[in-house]
Amino acid sequence: MIQRLRKRAVVFVGGGLTAGLAARQMMGSGLDILVLERGGDHAGSAAATLPNQRDELRWGVRNGLVQNWANETYTLRHHPGEEALPVRRMEAFLPGEGLGGAANHWNGQTWRWAEYDPALRTRLVSRYGKTALPSDMTVQDWGITYAEMEPYHDLFERLFGIAGQAGNLNGQHVDGGNPFEAPRGRDYPQPPLEILESGQIFKTATRSLGYKAFPLPAGNSPRAYKNPDGMSLAPCQYCGHCERFICEANAKASPAVLLYPLLRKDPHFEVRLHAQVTGLNYDKRARRVTGVRFIDLRTAQEYEQPADVVVLSGFTMTNTKLLLVSGIGKPYDPKTGKGVVGKNFCYQVMSSVPVFFRDRWINPFIASGSSQMVIDDFNGDNFDHAGLGFFGGGYIYSNVTNGRPITTRLLPAGTPRWGSAWKQANTDWYSHAFNVAVHGSNYPHRHNYLDLDPTYRDTYGQPLLRMTFNFHDNDHRMSEYVTAKAADGCDDRRDTAAAPRGLRCAPIPDDSHDRRNDHGGGSDIQRRVTTSPALGCSQPLRRRCVGLRAQRGLQPDWTARSTRTAPG
Ligand SMILES: Cc1cc2nc3c(=O)[nH]c(=O)nc-3n(C[C@H](O)[C@H](O)[C@H](O)COP(=O)(O)OP(=O)(O)OC[C@H]3O[C@@H](n4cnc5c(N)ncnc54)[C@H](O)[C@@H]3O)c2cc1C
Ligand code: SF4
Repeated sequence: MIQRLRKRAVVFVGGGLTAGLAARQMMGSGLDILVLERGGDHAGSAAATLPNQRDELRWGVRNGLVQNWANETYTLRHHPGEEALPVRRMEAFLPGEGLGGAANHWNGQTWRWAEYDPALRTRLVSRYGKTALPSDMTVQDWGITYAEMEPYHDLFERLFGIAGQAGNLNGQHVDGGNPFEAPRGRDYPQPPLEILESGQIFKTATRSLGYKAFPLPAGNSPRAYKNPDGMSLAPCQYCGHCERFICEANAKASPAVLLYPLLRKDPHFEVRLHAQVTGLNYDKRARRVTGVRFIDLRTAQEYEQPADVVVLSGFTMTNTKLLLVSGIGKPYDPKTGKGVVGKNFCYQVMSSVPVFFRDRWINPFIASGSSQMVIDDFNGDNFDHAGLGFFGGGYIYSNVTNGRPITTRLLPAGTPRWGSAWKQANTDWYSHAFNVAVHGSNYPHRHNYLDLDPTYRDTYGQPLLRMTFNFHDNDHRMSEYVTAKAADGCDDRRDTAAAPRGLRCAPIPDDSHDRRNDHGGGSDIQRRVTTSPALGCSQPLRRRCVGLRAQRGLQPDWTARSTRTAPG
């Protein structure tokens, strides 16, 4: 039987970055705050201490810190007309689980918005004309301005000890920083991280092309740092275990280090771990949420938690699902374009150009999640899009974040995939290669959205969230253009011993539709398995074991090992 708990002033659904930051703003108000977090506390656990923290198989490959897909996953289809299937293993984005959320195992790359970002639709229409925006590109203004957000960017940078080089101080250009930076009131609280060998190469190459490379703003602390709340970061050791890992050295700015230990000292603040929120109690007449329902995952007891205010801080997927299952707001309908819940689901468009140097030691194992050099010339609307046939762009950078042995091995095109020649190539190139990468935008599209799946349910009996998502013409054109710019930089280096280009512009392969409609034993379908019983149903899961030339993100049924490092 469901038990009713005493009412709280504020209840947060999910104890990640958003909850930590918002609860910090409420500290000292005397408000009675409760955070309900489905995971445990990783502090002091195997994930956060040596030697287990370095276990690439456990954290990096098997994603030990992310949502348990056997309990709750998403379904994916590439077009509204298709049947969606459950994603068994996420390649694309890895929602965190446990106190601190995904920002415990993030890279630390910390961008501010461009000045035009919050009013992007207005910007594009005013620069390119009303008819320039394709009708299915549903880009919108946010309703706030960069100037309003600037003090909060500044606060976040100070709380998280962000390291970087200012490029625009109160409208004055500063040498060495991002020439496209929006005006900032103050410099970063910490100087940039050390420039790695790959960054030096990138800086020289891009300078010769007329671009100004700058250090990527980083949440990996270059020094010992104390934030305005008195919380500390230790210096980064460039250990190469940032993304997908918790920093055992307390050098990576994260909620578990900087926010929750502070919040937990406040007698009005409480965290309840292993608490899976399953629904919001909604008073339709009053149009108010009056509380939440959650399950204690250790006892299976269900609770009702009344609250004056409920904050959805469980990341986009949980937030959207809870609104939909609780009947709050108008679900988005791609046919009419009406409704906002689930609308404008976006991702990112990644590509890279691998480069190889016989005579330069890249030593990829010396790196942090953000110790890279970057150019911003082809990002967002920093360049003229007239006549290009697309909007958006990406930052281009020397992407060395780690040299972890299982997943980080760049090999020249044509290298055999196994045997002694493969082994020799690994020996030859492990320390002599890196990716010049593009971290690109993905603008909203009419047919990319979230709703509830009509067929599949999670272990708690609720519908899975359904992603209808594909990369569209705009994404392909943007990626081709910006990746070609990245490749230009590679060609320009005279010290490149071998630089076969690998443009990976199409993040979902062109054949994905055919493949998903193939219910027979087509040549690329190598085996079938059934879903986890925890999902409450048993449907065929198609697996494909051939290598795809395109980026492997968002593949519901891709099993081959990816060599991609996916920052951000
Ligand atoms: C591998 C990786 C690398 C990244 N690198 C970068 C980067 O370099 N730079 C950058 O800017 N961003 C990066 N990000 C993104 C960044 O970490 C997220 O945008 C950020 O953490 C989102 O904050 P959030 O509070 O919305 O969600 P989260 O921090 O994920 O917190 C959500 C919390 O809610 C909990 N929760 C979810 N559902 C429920 C439920 N039903 N009941 C109870 N609890 C629930 C989860 O367990 C989690 O703890 C990265 C993300 C990943 C996964
Ligand atoms: S690279 Fe630095 S910040 Fe990242 S996990 Fe290692 S010590 Fe921590």
